[in-house]
Amino acid sequence: MSQPILVAEALSSGYGKFQVLFDVSFRVYENEILAVVGPNGSGKSTLLKTVFGLTTIYSGSVIYRGRDITRLPPYVKARIGVAYLPQTDNVFAELTVKENLLMAAYTLEESEARDRIEEVLNLYPVLKERLSYKARSLSGGERQMLALAMTLVRRPDIIMLDEPTANLAPVVARHLLKKISMLRDEMKKTIVLVEQNARAALELGDRALLMVSGRVSYEGPSESLLRDVELGKRYLGLR
Ligand code: ADP
Repeated sequence: MSQPILVAEALSSGYGKFQVLFDVSFRVYENEILAVVGPNGSGKSTLLKTVFGLTTIYSGSVIYRGRDITRLPPYVKARIGVAYLPQTDNVFAELTVKENLLMAAYTLEESEARDRIEEVLNLYPVLKERLSYKARSLSGGERQMLALAMTLVRRPDIIMLDEPTANLAPVVARHLLKKISMLRDEMKKTIVLVEQNARAALELGDRALLMVSGRVSYEGPSESLLRDVELGKRYLGLR
């Protein structure tokens, strides 16, 4: 197996004094999709936010490419290749698609920005036809595609996605998940995917992390979790 790109060691975190994660450890390997699954409220979103630096961390560490990044602010993490895509409000609704992409690229030099925007538009051609549309007028699937495109403009190495398919029609959700697996297969990205649809996530993921009540209940091959009738039934509604 390849090197871990990110290692979380015994993370305990929450919101102010309200603790959500207890001793959470896991690894993310280069070029894999780690599917994070578990019941509602088990701390999946909090886990992503903790890695990105948006919660109160009581103890534990986050190591990225051998460097301790636990206490770095989110904008520094973004700059060194860690991306986090929140579930909602991940685009500027009142700006056009083009303006959103320019916003994502605003720290880059003009020619670099142009190249990278061109690159992501080739990846998501549907956005090309919508450049002058306001983000709020896009369909749910297109909006998530725009959010992904904005993330990719910054060329992250590891992308943490929080329920990108929430509220999408099943066929649109499948399409989006396919795009996400292409990021791994064709662009060699590393992905941490929080997903409500456990079966879809486990089928897509290389490895999985099962969260239950703020703790890790399983870390290992997705396939094994998919086949674990007991855990699947009890925590994931799988049959
Ligand atoms: P999941 O993603 O697995 O559904 P979350 O990480 O969203 O779980 O939530 C875990 C717990 O943290 C829940 O009890 C939730 O109410 C609480 N929580 C989530 N976000 C916040 C917040 N911003 N402030 C306080 N508590 C929060």
